[in-house]
Amino acid sequence: MSRFAAEIDLDAISANVARLDAVSGDAAVMAVVKADGYGHGMVASARAAIAGGATWLGVAFAEEALALRAAGVDVPVLAWLLAETDDVEPLVRADVDVSVSAPWALDRAVAAAERSGRPAHVHLKVDTGLGRAGATRDDWPDLVTAAAKAAADGTVEVTGIWSHLAYADAPAHPTIAAQLAAYGDALEVADRAGVRPQVRHLANSAATLALPATHYDVVRPGIAVYGLSPGPDVGTTAELGLRPAMTLRAEVALVKRVPAGQGVSYAHRYTTERETTLALVPLGYADGVPRHATNLGPVSIAGRRYRVSGTVCMDQFVVDVGDDAVEVGDAAVLFGPGDAGEPTADDWAAAVGTINYEIVTRIGSRVPRTYVGGAS
Ligand SMILES: *Cc1c(COP(=O)(O)O)cnc(C)c1O
Repeated sequence: MSRFAAEIDLDAISANVARLDAVSGDAAVMAVVKADGYGHGMVASARAAIAGGATWLGVAFAEEALALRAAGVDVPVLAWLLAETDDVEPLVRADVDVSVSAPWALDRAVAAAERSGRPAHVHLKVDTGLGRAGATRDDWPDLVTAAAKAAADGTVEVTGIWSHLAYADAPAHPTIAAQLAAYGDALEVADRAGVRPQVRHLANSAATLALPATHYDVVRPGIAVYGLSPGPDVGTTAELGLRPAMTLRAEVALVKRVPAGQGVSYAHRYTTERETTLALVPLGYADGVPRHATNLGPVSIAGRRYRVSGTVCMDQFVVDVGDDAVEVGDAAVLFGPGDAGEPTADDWAAAVGTINYEIVTRIGSRVPRTYVGGAS
């Protein structure tokens, strides 16, 4: 083992996608691999997701979509957060679908299509209540009319009409019915303008798992692909039939006996109560260990559970292991699937007051991703 690694179980990713495919009925699965596959490695995660049955991939940015194509991934890809300065032409040439929330973005897709001599595949986005991307109800008719004209000209194919939920992780929330109704209205407006998309899509992980009425033609799970629950009201990882794919571990770099009253790490936010053993773990906030985990973050060393002792530093933190026999080179596991008693990403999220999404996506670029399972 190297000094530290985020070990990614590709078979877990494939199995999670197969599970999402099973619960989503006839809908196809668009596995969301933005943000370097939620920290798991984008291309490897994409391949594992495809092996599990994903027939679409979703990313935020143009660069992410082009990196998938450069790696030879050839399933349909949707990129949904283009900047005004992004060049759309390489995306059209690479057969990447783009999301369009406003007429100016449609104009850019049309211009790229004209330059590349092939139609741009667009997914028109309607804001059904999230208040983020998407055309408002008032702006939607004009966007649809412009898209119908571009489609008639042959510069654009309206591949999708889509939206995103605000409260899918609270499956009984009243906004869900309201967003479903608004989405239905938007589809009707489009239909009246002669815009009939190949695919309609609305569901993130939580909706895929808990809200069948949102499934339509394609579901867009992200966090569940990586085996993590989208939220406690949807279910635990085990209840949902998912398996966490990432294990973050490091080798203990130093062990030493210290007396009672020893202040530990910056600002001595931890002080030993008696003579004890301190173990040094070479991962810090530069690697994504939240500094808020000071005195809180759970860690398992040589199979036993402890907490971070004192301030999390840039490259390292310290653990008071008492009189336990810990040695240099022992494995310190910050989180994993939990079956060997190690903490989970959910435990870290609870300890530092965030969500499991942030725990896995923030793992830094200094930490190598190593892979187990998969076709290779
Ligand atoms: C990130 C994202 C998803 C995936 O959400 P999860 O909660 O991780 O399943 C789906 N759709 C859009 C638009 C997103 O930004």
